[in-house]
Amino acid sequence: MTSYKELGLVNTKEMFKKAVAGGYAIPAFNFNTLEQMQAIVQAAVETKSPVIMQVSKGARNYANGTILRYMAQGAVEYAKELGCENPQIVLHLDHGDSFELCKDCIDNGFSSVMFDGSALPYEDNIRITKQVVEYAHAHDVTVEAELGVLAGVEDEVQAEESHYTKPEEVIDFATRSGCDSLAISIGTSHGAYKFTPEQCTRDPKTGKLVPPPLAFDILHEIEKKLPGFPIVLHGSSSVPQDEVDTINAHGGKLPDAVGIPEEQLREASKSAVCKINIDSDSRLAMTAAIRKHFDEKPGDFDPRQYLKPARENMKKMYIHKIVEVLGSDNKL
Ligand SMILES: [Zn+2]
Repeated sequence: MTSYKELGLVNTKEMFKKAVAGGYAIPAFNFNTLEQMQAIVQAAVETKSPVIMQVSKGARNYANGTILRYMAQGAVEYAKELGCENPQIVLHLDHGDSFELCKDCIDNGFSSVMFDGSALPYEDNIRITKQVVEYAHAHDVTVEAELGVLAGVEDEVQAEESHYTKPEEVIDFATRSGCDSLAISIGTSHGAYKFTPEQCTRDPKTGKLVPPPLAFDILHEIEKKLPGFPIVLHGSSSVPQDEVDTINAHGGKLPDAVGIPEEQLREASKSAVCKINIDSDSRLAMTAAIRKHFDEKPGDFDPRQYLKPARENMKKMYIHKIVEVLGSDNKL
């Protein structure tokens, strides 16, 4: 048993309380490589932002859970080395799909876990979330639950259709499950193709796809039912057009990739939404920089030559999100 406290990590309790009161959101960036971890820490330290570093089941399979835990511990020490006296870093399990997986993470240094029972029948979702909550709270670990289904693909979690969260269910769900935060479905989705071209309209001037707006009416209704309760948005990458263009200009093939417009995420950050998950934008920033590098310097073969600009590009993106979208800078 390794407690996250020994690793210098924190849970989400205080962080979320401050974010809801202060009208900003904490960035939750997925990671599974050294370069992503370094870029996240550098961005958080430079902007004086708390940060959630999250790991999906797929990331654990890719990088190994033990290694990721030591990387999170390394992230805390690295932040201190960069001059941050009191780093606020959470190691969070993204989309835990069983009690056993959540328990294993809690026993191995995670400070926060998500149990995603959104695809289960309502009562089963409550029952297993509650089981996770009881174990987690005994170890001072916080728990995110999910109600409503997001469309799209995130590692193994896959859904064809989205089902918006029903505001009339949230009080019962939050009370009976005991969860600390709730991921809701209001029109965000996983991946770099959040909407089909048919779901979008086209801007007549630029010809670019304009996605349908998020269901802010549902968000506001949920806020009214659960005043001050921390709300989480998954699948909230914006799929920056310049990165997509760079990828496509250098041999990539991402036609009509489309994400959530940043102004909508900015608006959501000011509400009870206090955690915004961003994964695809990091993947795009990394891939764009690497493709460009390979195209321009075909003779390079030392991984540091192309991973360095990839890391720089991700860091730039993380800083942009923190300062210009979520507003979590200068909160340490
Ligand atoms: Zn997600």
